[in-house]
Amino acid sequence: MSTAVETKEFQTEIRQLLDIVIHSLYTDREIFLRELISNAADAMEKLRYTQLTGPEVKDKDAVLEIHIDTDDNSHTLTITDTGIGMTREELVENLGTIAHSGSKEFIKHLSAKGDQKDLNLIGQFGVGFYSAFMVADKVTIYTRSYHQEGESFTWESDGVGSYTITEGEERVRGTKMVLHLKEDAYDFAKEETIKRVIKQYSSFVPYPIMVNEQKV
Ligand code: ADP
Ligand code: MG
Repeated sequence: MSTAVETKEFQTEIRQLLDIVIHSLYTDREIFLRELISNAADAMEKLRYTQLTGPEVKDKDAVLEIHIDTDDNSHTLTITDTGIGMTREELVENLGTIAHSGSKEFIKHLSAKGDQKDLNLIGQFGVGFYSAFMVADKVTIYTRSYHQEGESFTWESDGVGSYTITEGEERVRGTKMVLHLKEDAYDFAKEETIKRVIKQYSSFVPYPIMVNEQKV
């Protein structure tokens, strides 16, 4: 097994978007959680569809639930799903390049605004994932695709210019995202805060959401 670290640059548009996301003040920045939960739900929806139509998936009995865990000591917030997961190629494609043409307009729109920016629409532009960098100064992703053949990967970035991909230890199908929170966002490592934000923005998600192993 190769443990070589591959370092890759974000595509120009992503770099511009991340630069704005990292260096601006936001209203409603808790919407990042809605975006990550919606990605987790999408990944499980894709898994379910694949399971109905395709060959047998890896870990076919893994329960389709979203797990959110807070750690107030290490100031991390972790979102785990048992969805479709990502291969190395998919990590590069999905979390390093912009697939949707509308996102350039969105970046322009954000750059034009003053000090207080509203990122609420980010999901509609197909770049919701990057809102994680409003609250995190490092994001680590552990993922394993549903394919029977394949490896587990670790993706990591501080959102500044580049990211790394490493072949990781074998894990269960799906994706785990660890947000290392910025000091001014430590509140998102508190269970009460997370439960409140889930109730506010994610009450219609069609999969169970467990916060620190308790259903919300
Ligand atoms: P969108 O959800 O509109 O496609 P995002 O920026 O939120 O845009 O996510 C980009 C892509 O990254 C998704 O389309 C998906 O392919 C991939 N992705 C993000 N989160 C996950 C996840 N938890 N599991 C699998 N793939 C994911
Ligand atoms: Mg999304």
